[in-house]
Formats: sequence, C-alpha cells, structure tokens
Amino acid sequence: MADVDAVVVGSGPNGLAAAVTLARAGLAVELHERHDSIGGGLRSEPLFDSDVVHDLCAAVHPMAASSRFFREFDLAARGVDLLRPDAPYAHPLPGGGAALAWAGLEETCAGLGADGERWRRLMGPLVARSRGVVDLVMSGQRSVPSDPAAALLLARSVLAHGFGRGPFTTEAARALFAGVAAHVVGPLPSLPGAAVAALLGHLAHTDTGWPLPRGGSAAIADALAADFTAHGGVIRTGHSVEDLRDLPRARSVLLDVAPKGLLRLARGRLPAAYRRALARYRYAPGAAKADFLVSEPIPWAAPAVGRAGTVHLGGTAAEIAAAETATARGRRVAAPFVLLVDPAVADPGRARNGRRPVWAYAHVPNGDTRDPVDLVRRRIEAFAPGFSDTVVAARGVSAARMEEYNPNYVGGDISAGAMSLRQAVLRPAPRWDPYRTPLPGLYLCSASTPPGPGVHGMSGHLAALSALRRDHGVRTPPDLSP
Ligand SMILES: Cc1cc2nc3c(=O)[nH]c(=O)nc-3n(C[C@H](O)[C@H](O)[C@H](O)COP(=O)(O)OP(=O)(O)OC[C@H]3O[C@@H](n4cnc5c(N)ncnc54)[C@H](O)[C@@H]3O)c2cc1C
Repeated sequence: MADVDAVVVGSGPNGLAAAVTLARAGLAVELHERHDSIGGGLRSEPLFDSDVVHDLCAAVHPMAASSRFFREFDLAARGVDLLRPDAPYAHPLPGGGAALAWAGLEETCAGLGADGERWRRLMGPLVARSRGVVDLVMSGQRSVPSDPAAALLLARSVLAHGFGRGPFTTEAARALFAGVAAHVVGPLPSLPGAAVAALLGHLAHTDTGWPLPRGGSAAIADALAADFTAHGGVIRTGHSVEDLRDLPRARSVLLDVAPKGLLRLARGRLPAAYRRALARYRYAPGAAKADFLVSEPIPWAAPAVGRAGTVHLGGTAAEIAAAETATARGRRVAAPFVLLVDPAVADPGRARNGRRPVWAYAHVPNGDTRDPVDLVRRRIEAFAPGFSDTVVAARGVSAARMEEYNPNYVGGDISAGAMSLRQAVLRPAPRWDPYRTPLPGLYLCSASTPPGPGVHGMSGHLAALSALRRDHGVRTPPDLSP
C-alpha cells in the first residue's frame, strides 16, 4: 500500500517542475529536499548586507522565459516580473572596446560593422522561427520536430559555426559569438557550443531576451512551490535522502539528482549494465563562483558594457577557445572564461544603500580547489580598471565546494554532465525513454536528462509525463496554467 502517489527528491527547477506536473494531474505528491530552503539552482540570499540579495546559482533566464513548460506555467501571470536589460549581453575586447548584443537585432548588426550582415543572416532566420527552435532544443529529443524548417535552420547554423573559425571576419563578431558558445562549458569550437550559441544568441534578439526576475531567481522557485502546495503538494526540507528506502512508499519516485547521486541512492539495486552506463557518464569542467558586494556600478573601460545584464570576459575568440579547451583537459589557465552579471542594471531595486551585488563564475578544471575570488577579480579589473577599489566584500566557492553545496554539481560541473555531442542526446544513458530507469517506478528528472542544463523545467516536466503515462494511466498532459 503506497503512502503517497509520487515522491520527488530535490527541489531544483526540474524537481519543482516534476512536482507541479504530477500534482496538477491530481496525484498526492511529496517533495524532499536536503537543504533547509527549496530551489536548487534557483536560490537567492543576502550574503554580506542583509538588504542586498545575491543569486547563489542561476541569475539570467532566457530558458525560463521561453521553454514550453514555463510558457504554460506562465510566470508573468504569477507575479514574477522578468526584467530585460537594454543589452542582453556584452563582450569587452582587449584594448578597451566591446561588442554588444542589443535586444534589437538591427542595432546589434549596426554595431558589428563588416560582420553586421553576417550576424543578421545567422540570427534573423532563427528569430523568425524562434518557437520551433526553442521547442526543438528544449525537448526530450525523441520526437519528430514540430517545425522541420526550424530544425533545418538550426542544423545549418550549427554546421556553419561548429567547426573552426566560422564565417565572421571581425574580431568583435567572432568574440561575441564565442562568448555565447562558451556557455556550453567544454572544448571550443564544437557542435554543441554552436547549438547553444544559436539558441541563446537568437533569444537575445526576441521578446524573450535574457531576463532577470525582479528580486532574484528565487522568485521562480517560489512561484513553482506556491502552485505545487496549492494543489496539495507537501514539501519536506532538511531531508538529505541517502537511500531510496528512506522515502515514503510511492508508485513513482522521481530523482532530481545526477547519475552519481542515483548510483548512491540505489545502493546496488540497479542492473549492472545500467550501472556501467551511468559510471561512464562524463562530467564537464567546473564552475567556481565569486560574489562581490560593490559600492559603484562596474567602471567598464567601454561604458556601453554597463547597459548589459550579462558580460562575457574571455578576450578574443581564439583566447576563449584556447582557455576553454585547456580547462576541459584539466589544465588551470591564467585567464579563464568568466561570466558576470550585474543584476542592478536590469533591476535597480537590487542595489541598496549604495551597495550592489555582482555575480560571476569562472570555468575551471573539474574538481578544482582554488578560491576563485582573486582570479575573477583580476579578470574583471582587466576590462574595468578600478573595479577592485569598489569591492566592499567578496566570497568565493571553489568548484570542489560547489559539489558540497549541491551533489548534482559533480566536481563543480554545473551542467550535471558534459554537453558533448553524445551526452547532449544520450543523457544519462542510451535509452528510448531517458527519464525511466530500469527499476519500476524510478525516474531521473534532473539536468542530467534531456534537454540538459539550464532553468527550463523541461527535464522535470517530461519525466513527470513519463511517470504519469506509465504508472498512473494518465495520457493527457495536465493543464499548468494559473
Ligand atoms: C553558479 C551557477 C550559475 C548558473 N547560471 C545559470 C543561469 O544564469 N541561467 C540558467 O538557466 N541556468 C544557470 N545555471 C544552471 C542551472 O542552475 C541548472 O541547470 C539547474 O538548476 C538544474 O536544475 P535541476 O532541477 O536539474 O537541479 P538543481 O537545481 O541542481 O537542484 C537539485 C536539487 O536537489 C537537491 N538534492 C540533490 N540530492 C539530494 C538528496 N540526496 N536528497 C535531497 N535533496 C537532494 C539539491 O540540494 C538541489 O536543491 C547555473 C548554475 C550554477 C551553479
């Protein structure tokens, strides 16, 4: 006799999306989370000053603003204000200049000189078929594309940019593109990097943009949790699940964990072939997080960078490729790729009492133990001389400590598994239903399943639909609207 219909372990965006989907289908669902607060990659907290909130993990949300799960869930209707900076992202260049991706495609092309027309030829068609591109990339990757023309466009742009230098002739456009491709966290150039650049790059020029939730990313987790509990869901925080036998009896158990966590929780009960496949699963390089409390807006050498929500600090495309490839091979580099977000640019309320948060992380070898504060500070200083003088307080979390904070980030891998060509599709193991494990009623619903990393909720949603079909005879996806 089951205690509940379904149990979800882990309250990241995917665990919450799974819980919401199951509860909306009328199931009695319990969600267990090891931390005292929910959210996984969506936690926001004051770190230094009680009035200034920092995003501990994710900060910028092109995927949450566009995925099918969140379109149906409708964050805006639930009071989550997604704020769009004038420039979704900027790329400071050596020598004091910068390349900028503005919300407007035309404005962006105008700023890219000789490559403006090439940027338009790349991004324009993707923008025109954005819905098809988004639904293809953020899917379970097992069904026929709903928009074959979007699939062809995507394939064409990935093949044009996934090898070597690509068609751009200016350093600015090459660097702008490479900075987005580097979100894949792996060797560059690469086909998965080009796919990520096509997805995130084109979203910058759509109504989606690269938005930040007013007040911080936790607003997204709170909206999901509110819907879940309003539909009878029960959340138990402070419960680190060590063995599947610790859980209440349920027809379906969905795990928002990485393969390493699944192997640990199942304690030898998985069939040997599946265990071997999970043991072969590869993790990406690590991310080392640095948070700063600063007294001034960042003094960028190129002032326009100050209008961007996200800033890519990597230098030229060649420098980014060299640093990312070396990092993926486990080598420490002097000037790693750094992503930076100045949330108050889009959300002025994040700056309080003359203090503002700065969010950054560096790509480092998996398992790296270095405190990244100085590494990241020097990287910012190179493009914003005087930054160090504005720093009031700083906190670093090494890649190794990221895993202590969240066991899904194995060795600091915030993608919960490398986005290699193979693992972009066959995550976590080659199976037709990637969410289902060989144990009846046991599913994986984390970013280690398709479509992979990012706050889109699709892994959790699709895993929940699989459990609903198989264990509960529910074939029609539940309504998710407010
Ligand atoms: C520094 C950083 C910056 C990022 N920036 C962005 C960004 O700007 N935009 C974006 O879209 N994505 C970003 N990401 C990636 C994004 O946060 C993740 O891809 C996403 O959160 C994955 O969601 P998930 O639900 O699969 O797992 P997670 O968010 O990792 O959640 C897993 C949850 O499960 C819990 N858990 C694990 N094991 C157990 C257990 N045994 N018992 C109980 N609970 C358990 C964990 O405590 C955690 O709460 C970032 C990630 C990091 C770390």
